[in-house]
Formats: sequence, structure tokens, C-alpha cells
Amino acid sequence: MQKQILREKEKVDSEKHETVKKIFTTYLEVKELRKTPERFAILEEIYMRGGHFDVESLYISMKNKNYRVSRATVYNTLDLLVACDLVSKHLFGDSMARYEKSYGYKQHDHLICTDCNKIMEFCDPRIQHTQNMVGELLKFKISHHSLVLYGSCEDEKCAERKQFIKQKESNQASK
Ligand SMILES: [Zn+2]
Ligand SMILES: [Zn+2]
Repeated sequence: MQKQILREKEKVDSEKHETVKKIFTTYLEVKELRKTPERFAILEEIYMRGGHFDVESLYISMKNKNYRVSRATVYNTLDLLVACDLVSKHLFGDSMARYEKSYGYKQHDHLICTDCNKIMEFCDPRIQHTQNMVGELLKFKISHHSLVLYGSCEDEKCAERKQFIKQKESNQASK
């Protein structure tokens, strides 16, 4: 049973990978850009991993897998993938851009813990609804939105959070 589910999932994933590759191929052809294996390796790597990542961690994980890609290629490929909507780029207020795959993934917004920098996701259809309504009302063609909620996670096991609280307490004690 478990295996069956897994196989189904693999099938969905490989179909998705094919679609994503096709979208990227078409985009590169239209823009008359070279379809290099490096660019497709980067796309593959992004779609294999989950979560939010920055350029440097993507570059390092590719290097660890012995891909011969330069930092510059990682940067410019990411720009291309953002331009054709296969990857979304977030600026979470700490000046470091984060990326995540976006094709076939549910539209969502983010929560960021200011103690430990953990990124969480939530999805509320009312936000999309509000966006449509406001666009219609103000005759504004909305292309995308960015909503980030900041605060503290209440994760007991969050190590950085514990450290943060300890620091705060000792600061207060010394006053
Ligand atoms: Zn936290
Ligand atoms: Zn996300």
C-alpha cells in the first residue's frame, strides 16, 4: 500500500519534471538563449528539493553533487527561472533573496520567526479572494502579491529561540 502511494507520487513528480522542462525549453527558445545542460541541471536540482533556499546554498549543494556550475550560472539561471514563473523569489526583509519552486505548487504566504529565522507557510483562499476583489474594484491588474507575517514561533525545541530568550533575560538582569 505504502509502496503504491510512493510509486504514484513518483509518477506525478516525473510528469511534473517533464512539464517544467518543457516550459523552460520553450522559454529559452523564444528568448533565443542557449539550452545548456547546466541550466537544466539547476532546474532539476531546484525541483528535487523542497523549501526555501538562497543562491549560495543552491550553489553549494550542486557543487557537493559534483556538478560543474559556476556561481554566475546559478545566479543567471535563477533569474531566467523567475522570469518564466518556474521559481518564485522572495525578499523577506533580511536583504537575502530566497527562492522556491513554484510550478504546480499551491499559492501560499509566509510566516517568519524573528528569533530563529524559521520560515513557515500558510494558505488562505480569502487572500486570493481579496486580491481579486480589490483588483476589480480599483481597475488594477494585479500580477502577484507578497505577504509576510513576522513574529516568534512557539516551538519548545527551537534552540535559537531558547538562546534568544536567555540573552534577553541576562540583558534585563544587567540593567
Ligand atoms: Zn523560532
Ligand atoms: Zn513558500
